[in-house]
Amino acid sequence: KDDQSLVESDKPKETFADVGGLEDVKKKIRMNFILPVRQPELFAAYGKEAGGSLLLFGPPGCGKTFLARAVAGEIDANFMHIELQAILSMYAGQSEHNLHDIFEKARQSKPCVIFIDELDAMGGSRHQMRQHHDRMLVNQLLLELDGLQAENENVFIIGATNTPWYLDSALRRPGRFNHLVFVPPPEEAERERILELKLSGKPAEGLQLGKIAAETKLFSGADLEQVVKDAVESAMERMLGSGRIEPITNDDLRRSAKTRKATTLEW
Ligand code: ATP
Repeated sequence: KDDQSLVESDKPKETFADVGGLEDVKKKIRMNFILPVRQPELFAAYGKEAGGSLLLFGPPGCGKTFLARAVAGEIDANFMHIELQAILSMYAGQSEHNLHDIFEKARQSKPCVIFIDELDAMGGSRHQMRQHHDRMLVNQLLLELDGLQAENENVFIIGATNTPWYLDSALRRPGRFNHLVFVPPPEEAERERILELKLSGKPAEGLQLGKIAAETKLFSGADLEQVVKDAVESAMERMLGSGRIEPITNDDLRRSAKTRKATTLEW
């Protein structure tokens, strides 16, 4: 495997304004990650430098990846998404080497956000054969994180997991992923906001998003995004029939919501 398939990088345009709800989460991230980049002198007085690490946890589809991208968007940083499974599938030695290379690349393209999804997969192996290999990789990650203090100014590491209880405890020690932030399923008002964001700029008529929000209990942000996509498709089908722009209606949304299941239920 070459470097290319181990990491996907780009420069995200998303910002916190695109993330619906999650105000407490945004506040915590703003204080610890974003403002120190914008006002370094003020934060330096408290011994706080720009950079560091954060662990997001919560049910799938509730915005962990989206938030991590928005952090990069907020501080105009590069975003590197590490394909952890690909790294884990390599031979011992090779994995550590590649992980190190990725961090080196990030240090050369500062400011940079490194995102590691499914962090629990690292060190979480129940197979004896894999355990040693996993441990080596965890150790390598710890080395890179400890380097954070020294040369990683303006490098941000954001880890994510659906199952924090499987996370290797070494990763949770102070100075590592010690900011643990829960990304919960959206509440009713947040669901309304997410629907509004996903529909913004699209032709619509007579929407009652508050009602749809009330009928989509336990839906994740990803579920809601899908509801909107299905509703858009219904409107487009009418457009094909009539030959003109047809608005998305409340019925379109309601029907597509009915055919979906709340995915955070199973978490
Ligand atoms: P997983 O644990 O499965 O990786 P995740 O928590 O990382 O899930 P995302 O990939 O961030 O979930 O979310 C999937 C999609 O759902 C996003 O691309 C985004 O469009 C939408 N979404 C989720 N939560 C929100 C939110 N709070 N505001 C706006 N969009 C959201």
